[in-house]
Amino acid sequence: MKTDDILAKVKATATQAGQAAVKAADKAAKTAERLVETTKLQYQIYELKGEIDGLYKEVGKLMHAAHRNKPVEDSKLDEMLSEIDRKLEALDELQERKARSKNRKYCRACGNSSEPEAVYCGHCGAPFEAEEKTEVNTDPTEAETEPKTEGTQASE
Ligand SMILES: [Zn+2]
Repeated sequence: MKTDDILAKVKATATQAGQAAVKAADKAAKTAERLVETTKLQYQIYELKGEIDGLYKEVGKLMHAAHRNKPVEDSKLDEMLSEIDRKLEALDELQERKARSKNRKYCRACGNSSEPEAVYCGHCGAPFEAEEKTEVNTDPTEAETEPKTEGTQASE
C-alpha cells in the first residue's frame, strides 16, 4: 500500500468517526432536550396539582361552614368547582404532553401510560382515542406498486 493510500484511508476513517461523533452528539442533545421538556412538564404538573389541592381545601372549608349553618355563597362554591374542573382538564393535557415527551400514551381514565401504538390502555383497558388516523393511506392504487417477492425463489 502506498503512503498516499494509507493517508487517504486514515483520513476517511477519521471523517467517519467524526460523523459518528456528530450523530451521537446530536442524539444526546435530542435526548437532553426531551429530558428538559419532561422535567419542565413535571414541574408544571406539580404546580397545578398544588393549585387544585388548594381549591379542594377551600371547597372543604365552605362545606364545613355550611355544615355549621354559616352563610355560604353558592356562586362562590360553583366558581371554585368550575375552576377545579378547568384545572383538572389542564392537568390531563400536561400529563398527555409529558407522556408524549417520553414516547408514551397517557390514559385519562386511570392516569397510567402505555406504549405509543396501544389502542387500549394496558392498565384499565379504556380505549384510546384514534389520533392522526388521516395519515394512513388507504388508496388502493398505492398498494399495487408494492413489489411482491413471494414464490420467486426458483434459482438458488
Ligand atoms: Zn387506563
